[in-house]
Amino acid sequence: MLKVWASKYKLHPLAAIGSLAENAPRSGALLKIKWSDERVGYADLFPWPELGDADIETELSRIRKSQLSLLVEQTFWLARRDAEARFAKRNAFEGLPRVKNHFLVTDPLRTTDMVLDQAKLAGFTTVKAKVGQSPADEARWVERFLRINHQMLLRLDFNSSLTPDQFHEFMTMIPGPARARIEFVEDPFPYDEGEWAKANQVVPLALDQEYAKVDWKTLKSAPFQVLVLKPARQDLDKALAQAVERNMKIVVTSALDHAVGIAHACFVAGELKKNFSTLVLDSGCLSNKIYRANEFTPSMEIRGPYLLEVPGTGIGFDKVLEKLTWEQLAPAPKA
Ligand code: MG
Repeated sequence: MLKVWASKYKLHPLAAIGSLAENAPRSGALLKIKWSDERVGYADLFPWPELGDADIETELSRIRKSQLSLLVEQTFWLARRDAEARFAKRNAFEGLPRVKNHFLVTDPLRTTDMVLDQAKLAGFTTVKAKVGQSPADEARWVERFLRINHQMLLRLDFNSSLTPDQFHEFMTMIPGPARARIEFVEDPFPYDEGEWAKANQVVPLALDQEYAKVDWKTLKSAPFQVLVLKPARQDLDKALAQAVERNMKIVVTSALDHAVGIAHACFVAGELKKNFSTLVLDSGCLSNKIYRANEFTPSMEIRGPYLLEVPGTGIGFDKVLEKLTWEQLAPAPKA
């Protein structure tokens, strides 16, 4: 019989997280799962009610009733990956290439040149800016970023906050040659095949939160060139099959979640890099710095744009996971 335990936590953002969220503390839970074959694995459950998820209390109460949301199914799937490596007493990152990460800027208008210069010196080659809160000011910021040439590519993520008109207005403020150093624009506005196709002519688009709205069966020529994969939030195998079939580039990112979620995302990114090296672009897994440090932080050693292997078995953190207080969710789900 499957047994599940939860350990609730709060993450404290150090600044507002783009157009998506306020900087109030965010709630989630780590899950510890023991399967009938005695294998034990850990993963993170970190809902984003802003994206339509239930809150953590609701998610946990649904697990008690064996009603598993897609989010919880992914948590189980990741925990099983961890369990296999722990059972083999193996570090999950062993033998996998390290994947470079982008430099995340959650508040571009308050990000100084010095911070960007330091990122470049540290070895970052891409910057991802969360935009959409004040498009006119941000367009000026983007134009300046490209003009003074930080020698890094720029990714912009609007979290679908614009209208198509606002998007085209934004882009007219960026001169054509400079635009070539925008690696892609992620979720500029809500998904609409025709409007996305027009925007994709202006700058390469990347699909992230709008993923669920795409009808893959009828889609002939995709109006985007990059697929953002969040192992914590979507069925990875299905999404990956689409990317491989259509020869799309892939960016693996965390769900701006707990360190355990970040380690899982890095583990997935390393595996994909090993198996599909030409498709995998820089990842977005260094999101831990947007939150106040906690007891997991010391295990996450960052060297420039790379997260080093987290020590321990599975995805790591053995000692700190052991010390947490775990509450068993009873009755155990049947899954
Ligand atoms: Mg995104």
